[in-house]
Amino acid sequence: MNILLIGIQGCGKGTQAKLLEERFGWKHITTGNLLRENFENKTELGIIAKKFMDAGELVPDKYVFQIVEDALAKVDEGSILDGFPRNMEQLRFLEKNFTIDKVILLDLSDEKAIERVSSRRNCIDCKKDYNLLYHKPKVEGICDVCGGKIVQRDDDYEDAIKKRIEKFYKETSEVITYFNEEGKLIRVNADDPIDTIQANIIKALDV
Ligand SMILES: [Zn+2]
Repeated sequence: MNILLIGIQGCGKGTQAKLLEERFGWKHITTGNLLRENFENKTELGIIAKKFMDAGELVPDKYVFQIVEDALAKVDEGSILDGFPRNMEQLRFLEKNFTIDKVILLDLSDEKAIERVSSRRNCIDCKKDYNLLYHKPKVEGICDVCGGKIVQRDDDYEDAIKKRIEKFYKETSEVITYFNEEGKLIRVNADDPIDTIQANIIKALDV
């Protein structure tokens, strides 16, 4: 089974993908993880991609596509694509040699997504993640682990989140419409507790 998880930032895609990976042994595929694996293994593509990232540039699609293609060629049990394809160009590339069986849209309102993401905090020293909604530090503003100062990243301020949500709808709406017309789209309420969301996904996939 090859599935795609799709949804705006804060919808919990990564958490759900990890749970599915643990349960079914499907490989969780994000372009970020694949790029990291390629750097660590010093592959030719990893070395090329790193040059772009070190220069603060996006890795061009043609390299990302090759990295994704290599990873998918090795998938046997199944895969969970997370955040890719997010536009029609990526989708057309992927569907040349690969079939996505089901697409899970983790449905979350913009307001909830902004509330969740803008509550994220990080330690400036050890980089530990916190969230003021679910996982507050014991002492306000101070890291539980190292005593460092806890701050909000620029990306986690409301304006930045709104921009990314807008970009998501602009790019990804067509992808969602496409899979809906193919009869592959499943909508799951992402405002439920993590366990409920997972149970609803499993039920909808009928696995
Ligand atoms: Zn810390």
